[in-house]
Amino acid sequence: MQAMGARVSPVAVTDARARRHRARVGAKNGGAVDNTQLLEEHDACGVGFIASLKGERTHKTVKDSLMAVGCMEHRGACSADNDSGDGVGVMTHIPWKLLDKWCAANGISGFSEGSSAVGMVMLPTDGAKAAEAKKILEASCVAEGLKVLGWRAVPVDNSVVGPLAKMTCPVHEQILVDGAGLEREELERKLFIARKTCEKSASSDAVLAESFYICTLSSRTIVYKGMLRSAVLGKFYKDLEDPDYESQFSIYHRRFSTNTTPKWPLSQPMRFLGHNGEINTLQGNLNWMASKEADMENPIWGGREPEFRPICNPAASDSANLDRVAELLVRTGRAPAETMMLLVPEAHRNHPELDATFPEVHDFYDYYAGMQEAWDGPALLVFSDGKQLGARLDRNGLRPARFWRTSDDYIYVASEVGVLGDVMSNASNVVSKGRLGPGMMIYADLETGEFKENTEIAKEVSARLPYGEWMKAIDRVKGIEPIGATQLDPIQLIECQARAGYAAEDITMIIESMASDAIEPTWSMGDDTPMPVLSGRPRLLYDYFKQRFAQVTNPAIDPLREGLVMSLAMTLGAKGNLLDTQGKETPPVMLDSPVLFDSELEHIKNHPKLKTQTIAARYAAGGAAGALKAGLDKLCEEAAAAIRAGSECIVITDRPDQGPDSPAIPSLLAVGTVHHYLIAQGLRTRASIVVESASAFSTHHIATLVGFGAHAVCPWLALETCRSWRKSPKVETAIQRGKMGDVSVEGVQVNFKNALNKGLKKILSKMGISLITSYQGAQIFECYGLGPEVINTAFKGTVSRIGGLTMDEVAAETHMFVQSAFPGEAEEMAKVEARGMFQVKPGLEYHGNNQEMSKLLHKAVGLGGGEKNDEFWSAYQAHRNDRPYTCLRDQLEIKSDRQPISVDEVESVADICTRFCTGGMSLGAISQECHESIAIAMNRIGGKSNSGEGGEDPKRFETITDATADGKSETFPYLRGMENGDVASSAIKQVASGRFGVTTSFLMSANQTEIKVAQGAKPGEGGQLPGKKVSPYIAWLRRSKAGVPLISPPPHHDIYSIEDLAQLIYDLHMVNKNSKVSVKLVSQAGIGTVASGVAKANADIIQISGGDGGTGASPLSSIKHCGGPLEMGLVESHRTLVENGLRERVVLRADGGCRSGLDVIQTALMGADEYGFGTVAMIATGCVMARICHTNNCPVGVASQREELRARFPGAPSDLVNFFMYAAQEVREILAQMGYRSLDEIIGRNDLLSQIDKAPAKTSSLDLSFLTTSSGEAGASSDRIAQPVHNDGIVLDDKILSDPEVQKCIETEGTYTKKVEIVNVDRCATARVAGQIAKKYGDNGFAGSLTLDIEGSSGQSFGAFVVGGLKVRLVGEANDYVAKSMSGGEIAIMPPPNSPFAPESASIAGNACLYGATGGQVFISGRAGERFAVRNSLGEAVVEGTGDHCCEYMTGGCVVAIGKVGRNVGAGMTGGIGYFLDEDGTFESKVNGEIVAMQRVITPAGEAQLKGLISAHAEKTNSPKAKAILADWANYLPKFWQLVPPSEANTPEATNDVKAGVEATA
Ligand code: SF4
Repeated sequence: MQAMGARVSPVAVTDARARRHRARVGAKNGGAVDNTQLLEEHDACGVGFIASLKGERTHKTVKDSLMAVGCMEHRGACSADNDSGDGVGVMTHIPWKLLDKWCAANGISGFSEGSSAVGMVMLPTDGAKAAEAKKILEASCVAEGLKVLGWRAVPVDNSVVGPLAKMTCPVHEQILVDGAGLEREELERKLFIARKTCEKSASSDAVLAESFYICTLSSRTIVYKGMLRSAVLGKFYKDLEDPDYESQFSIYHRRFSTNTTPKWPLSQPMRFLGHNGEINTLQGNLNWMASKEADMENPIWGGREPEFRPICNPAASDSANLDRVAELLVRTGRAPAETMMLLVPEAHRNHPELDATFPEVHDFYDYYAGMQEAWDGPALLVFSDGKQLGARLDRNGLRPARFWRTSDDYIYVASEVGVLGDVMSNASNVVSKGRLGPGMMIYADLETGEFKENTEIAKEVSARLPYGEWMKAIDRVKGIEPIGATQLDPIQLIECQARAGYAAEDITMIIESMASDAIEPTWSMGDDTPMPVLSGRPRLLYDYFKQRFAQVTNPAIDPLREGLVMSLAMTLGAKGNLLDTQGKETPPVMLDSPVLFDSELEHIKNHPKLKTQTIAARYAAGGAAGALKAGLDKLCEEAAAAIRAGSECIVITDRPDQGPDSPAIPSLLAVGTVHHYLIAQGLRTRASIVVESASAFSTHHIATLVGFGAHAVCPWLALETCRSWRKSPKVETAIQRGKMGDVSVEGVQVNFKNALNKGLKKILSKMGISLITSYQGAQIFECYGLGPEVINTAFKGTVSRIGGLTMDEVAAETHMFVQSAFPGEAEEMAKVEARGMFQVKPGLEYHGNNQEMSKLLHKAVGLGGGEKNDEFWSAYQAHRNDRPYTCLRDQLEIKSDRQPISVDEVESVADICTRFCTGGMSLGAISQECHESIAIAMNRIGGKSNSGEGGEDPKRFETITDATADGKSETFPYLRGMENGDVASSAIKQVASGRFGVTTSFLMSANQTEIKVAQGAKPGEGGQLPGKKVSPYIAWLRRSKAGVPLISPPPHHDIYSIEDLAQLIYDLHMVNKNSKVSVKLVSQAGIGTVASGVAKANADIIQISGGDGGTGASPLSSIKHCGGPLEMGLVESHRTLVENGLRERVVLRADGGCRSGLDVIQTALMGADEYGFGTVAMIATGCVMARICHTNNCPVGVASQREELRARFPGAPSDLVNFFMYAAQEVREILAQMGYRSLDEIIGRNDLLSQIDKAPAKTSSLDLSFLTTSSGEAGASSDRIAQPVHNDGIVLDDKILSDPEVQKCIETEGTYTKKVEIVNVDRCATARVAGQIAKKYGDNGFAGSLTLDIEGSSGQSFGAFVVGGLKVRLVGEANDYVAKSMSGGEIAIMPPPNSPFAPESASIAGNACLYGATGGQVFISGRAGERFAVRNSLGEAVVEGTGDHCCEYMTGGCVVAIGKVGRNVGAGMTGGIGYFLDEDGTFESKVNGEIVAMQRVITPAGEAQLKGLISAHAEKTNSPKAKAILADWANYLPKFWQLVPPSEANTPEATNDVKAGVEATA
């Protein structure tokens, strides 16, 4: 990385210390966890272990682990000084030999293995404080009956510590204690209690709480760790390089933290485990642990459990908290393997291998599901208690984990291969190589030398207790049909709907739509209505909460194609005692889903074991102050009394027939309040909460209710609405006329529930959560517009940074709904009122984008290449700037500290325009005409257009020279207003999760490359281009098939964590070293920490988008309920980057509802250097805001691929040019008013913003000080923009390209072979060579032949971006992302010739190989990992086995697997063909048959394709398996299956009866 003048302000460090101290003190109070704290720390890393199975203790093991961690430096990161590592460490056995020697030399007696223990301690640098800390620890040990033998100063070399780490570098000492006479496990427990009591005593002192930390205190293990880089760990801790330091095992870890504030203790390994990844479910885990710890006890602790509570600490990292829980379980007597299985459960359902080998394991997992919610998220966990050692991978398999075993009985596990020894010379010693698949574990017993793999471990653990017997008693509430009869008459129904807050459009567009189609409705063009707290109209309480979503530091997961790892199963009844290691009674009820029909709720109400109590949630009518609060208090007391009386289930109801005729407490408020009250009373885990709610009708409503504590929800009024709708004459008529399927009354309710279930899974998946039990009570939302009184009562710990409504104001808003149900005396409502939430309707809710505004803008810019009009621009400006309060910046005003100046003194329009960009709108979502017009316009003004996802036609990369005087060009005949010198290439090329059209030449044509991590309309979700928008041209650009829908997966399959993002940034810098890399994020609380991580990951630009933007099609609930305001995300990002000394490294770009020069000024003051315009750019070129973009029927050809509609496209490049000229001029005028001469002078000056005096209608408690408080000095914006592209120094490719023969070969299209050696730190090898060829010849135009003959262990992304004419041969092994975005050429990988293992049984390539390949051939003589050929569109490959999800999302090309594959093959595969050798008859159970069909190879063309590829494989790799198949072809051919998606069904490879003119189908 480049050094960018890094610095950290001492103030920031002090603040961070204070925050952490507050967090520790706060954590002691029990109750709800403050989620704000959780946003400050994210990490991902490299991890592994080495162990001797023969029990050898050697120094070599320690030395090798130092070497291994040294080879994973790229998986970690450094602070802003580029020298202070985020953390590195090792866990080993206690080095008895070294310490015995030291004790002897220092006259300490009594120290001996078996009875003694060592504490590795970080102490304050202040001598007096250190002495105090030592005294506390000694006292704690003595109190446990342990004898303190002495203290040893750990020899360290401070000179190798980086400057920032040095500021907080503690003193390192070891305490030596003895517990002679104690049984070993008893000794470990005493040490555990001593450590906990010591920590508690020290926590009341701010200095000690911050700088006194016990890494380990154990009689077996010890951890040496610190804020260091890998290379200096052994230098810093001199012990580690002492030959007397011997151990049988070593766990090593290198950390990448998104936070730059130095934290020595958060380095890893922890006391029990080391973790590579991120726990997505952390908020729920911490909340539930806080709730249930009061009930966690075991006689082994002799009643001392309160001494180690609280168990978790929100100020610590996810890894540290998981470690705390795991350590406690192990110390209580659970085996390490069992502990990991119940904390990080495998996705055991839909698992053919487990079903076949050990189905009983389901009972184990089901038994613990109700007691312990999963710690879920990407995780490679290596763990040890000193006796046993193991590794566990998360249920999704989102982290790489490779292991290998040597002939001298050593076992190695690592995040990547190549970290130890030379693969070539060491080849004959490696007897096996494997990888951990999703949810898998391996385990070694250090005492017996036993080594076990997953199934064996699962069998052993599951057989310990009679889980199967116990689970027979559970009631699974199956087969209860919804009721058929309506329960309310039409008038009652409407009245109930109005009181509950339904709007007419909610009923028609959401409830009826879901009842009819069983999916959530789709919408487009983002959310341009006012925020609920700013709107003058009533909004449901649910609307004040935004769903959180995963971005960068953790991945969203895929509910669509990888739904097999997800579950909505929920248990009802008391949770039980996690510390009881001998079992308990089974929970009474297990539900498939938290959504209940009325009939199911009735069953639960009458369940004998649950002893359910129903409580009405109502408050006194009349609007008296405090009435709502009083109602809540009464509700809480009734719930607590019921539980104390033995109820295990509370139903909170708002049914009108239950309780008094007074207003209902909003369900969400009722649930949250009762949930927190019960936590405070220590009663929460003794009963479930079920809600019977009138107001819950959408996926977001159910998600918020569950997220704030409900176990299940019965949306009784929505179900009644479904029944009533189905029985209505309009539906009967529609069915009779065949316009709708004949679904029964019960059927529409089933549809509605299915839609809610699908939507719920989607909401969970956005946060990377697989199980509803991990989501329940996790409060994974942020609040905009509720004040502290409401938050502290019902939503304690939820992030809420702008204040807002009081409890009485919530009551007043609720009353607005109640009133609407009674419009006037003697008046009956014919239907519920509309509120205009989705479409613009006169007199209803305001929309920022509306027809009047588009008309004014069209006239202002002279739509169609006409003259611009100042009068209309003024009208447009007034329309924008005088709008009702819509977003937070409308509550701000600019208060300059200078006198106005003449506008002539302000920087020019041209200068300002260079900071303008357009949003990433893909060609496909919008038309060719619109896309190209926008690109030309932006190039004319020196701004930047953004390609969006989907590639670009290479003709656009050339400058236009054939424009005629009347603005026509033969190259672009469909465009108007062309000029010679125009360029239609987008300056910013987007790389999104689909990787459609991301070829090497596309990337080489970029000035900037944008990684779209999230999009404003639906952050955390993937994209979808409907089949009807995939015209032949779009299909050609995207390397797919016309008419077949193109679905982008929700996660980026190569961005599972911050370190993966760093790798992708590295990849893009590698292929095109002249292109800056930007990362697009969406605003939410915690984005500052994410932005810091992205800056550390070497991005050049960070784009912050508002959650209300987006132009494409999205689920309606995603548009409305996910993603935060631009203002909050922008200020937080800017401020955090400034605080961390990282601001100067990156350009900040803001994008979200910008429509004018005023928006530019406001976002500039908040810290933005550049400004993105999305929807308004479409409006300026012709959009009339019809909002049917997703239908392909856009009336003006802006967002359609239909020829006849595209012909109507009215726009010309000059329209957009005119808009930007106006906007830039407006910027100049405002700057002049402010007395400033340039944007440079005001960027980051949010002290010039202040909140206006006029409060919104609903509350006077809005507090925008977060936005108006100064963020500190930020340097000059134009300097940041002018920075050169960040570079990575000299890499392997530069050395290859420096060979004159290579250059000659490329220049002359000659032939040349070059030998190259490679090690794992050589990442993305060959990409830059490929880039140079593509720049000159395109992806497949190079007629020469350049062969790179490579030996060794390659780093990640080997062979990425390879192009035609480039042949890459690797003898050795490779890591993840082999052949990523390969565009042509050839890659062959094979093990060293003297390897003793059979290639088809050994993993020699990692995960996500061929991701987004658009061409070329790959041959791998060995196995590869998960998601092989994901999003491959034209590449061909032969491999000898893969992990799960092979061929996922494939849209073209061909894959041949001649060895075993994992499950979920062909998920989302819409194109291309797969051939799979099935020797054991298990393949069929592994196929995801949603899209693909499977058949034997029945056509000559299919056989020729298969045989041709296997022959090529044998030739390129010398594969014994391929040769054996070819030698016995007749026998092998019938054992192959062919996977055929519908789009390939009519091809010669798939059928002998090809029909002419038959089109592909989805
Ligand atoms: S005019 Fe076209 S682009 Fe604009 S909102 Fe309507 S359908 Fe979408």
